[in-house]
Amino acid sequence: MRVCLAIALALVCAAPVPALGQGRKKMAATPPLTVTRLPNGLTVVTVRTPTPGVVAYYTLMRVGSRNEVEPGHTGFAHFFEHVMFYGTPTWPRAKWEDAVKSRGLESNAFTSSDMTVFHLSGTAAALPFIIESEADRFQHLTYSEAAFQTEARTILGEYHKSISNPLLKMFEAFADKAFTAHTYKHTTLGFLADIQAMPGYYQYSREFFQRYYRPDNATIFIVGDFEPKVVGALVKQHYGRWTGKSFQPRIPVEPPQTAERTGHVAWPTPTLPRLLVGYHTPAASPKTKDAAIQQVLGPLLFGPQSPLYRDLVLGRQLCLDLDDTYDDLRDPGVFGYLATLKSAKDLPEVQRTIDAAIDELRAGQLDAKRLADVQSHRRYRVLMALETPDQIARALAAAAAPTGDPRTLEQRLDQIAKLTVKDLLAFAKQHLGKENRTVVTLAAGVPAKGGAQ
Ligand SMILES: [Zn+2]
Repeated sequence: MRVCLAIALALVCAAPVPALGQGRKKMAATPPLTVTRLPNGLTVVTVRTPTPGVVAYYTLMRVGSRNEVEPGHTGFAHFFEHVMFYGTPTWPRAKWEDAVKSRGLESNAFTSSDMTVFHLSGTAAALPFIIESEADRFQHLTYSEAAFQTEARTILGEYHKSISNPLLKMFEAFADKAFTAHTYKHTTLGFLADIQAMPGYYQYSREFFQRYYRPDNATIFIVGDFEPKVVGALVKQHYGRWTGKSFQPRIPVEPPQTAERTGHVAWPTPTLPRLLVGYHTPAASPKTKDAAIQQVLGPLLFGPQSPLYRDLVLGRQLCLDLDDTYDDLRDPGVFGYLATLKSAKDLPEVQRTIDAAIDELRAGQLDAKRLADVQSHRRYRVLMALETPDQIARALAAAAAPTGDPRTLEQRLDQIAKLTVKDLLAFAKQHLGKENRTVVTLAAGVPAKGGAQ
């Protein structure tokens, strides 16, 4: 049974990692990759790694909840994450699942705001099967209206399960408050009313698939132990007849925010209080340093080595955890933090303390040595997590999703290395003003009159 890993929102909290030993002079590097493009627009990225007998195969479709522009039709990108496992006439679901199992392959998929990613990993001997069957399902996916309706109900169940988690409910409330026009207003799961109405939209689902599951919207990452010539020929043979051009949706531009927005989620049962704050910030464009700045600013302000973390989590112990919530996005998104507190009475003090640290940064106070440490740590952290073909393929696909460029991971690490104190200060001054932010709190209690949020 496949386990759905839909990410409820683009805001993914990075888990803290231990500090790396000092004195390592030589920085590891991202593995060299080869990028080719088929005449139909399909991008194929191959990376050979010294991992005998092991491969990972990732298909990045640049479609996520961001693409859901039509009112009443949110949730369809995530829906296709599920439906892509329904199979084709050549590879019906049960036959395909048996074939995957008998070869000992791991297979799954995930969806976020900007991407839907399908992946398999395991023995290199299975690569011809993977290429053939993956090419087949992206071109010949078949599902009946009855199957569609069954899956829509499964997704409704997934929504109810997710939303019983206070954190997911909080992210949903935050997105709805922070965005007024852009499709980042809804989470990857979609609005509840739309999911409830989904069983009636079989025809629309087919249109959605035709719009976005096109070769020019896809990038395949093949990482591990393989013979490039053999793999290249197989990819050409099986994907060469995939046709069509992807639809370019008109996604509303989020207007500038001019005043702070606030919200509160009153949770009906006992839970830890939380504070979620996000500032509107620029997209992860390959043309700017903005994504690199935000990837460094997060750990700099809120990471385990930061003064704020040492004060609020380790020192005064008002918080159980503090972390940044930044994730690279294709369009302007949010940069911010999530604090998990022990007691709701400390919410004002925690926010006041964090505000003071941000104000200091905006006033021009940043230690160059500390910035250099965070830059180095951030790069090591990414590179040290590139051990297996699966980890490499996943990191390459996730980095490429917002930009469309398979080399984004390497470029981003280079950008991080070159950031200066001036870059960080200018960014903080421009974007971390109170008028540009949304503050959502969550605590156990009774919803206020007129709604909880
Ligand atoms: Zn799901």
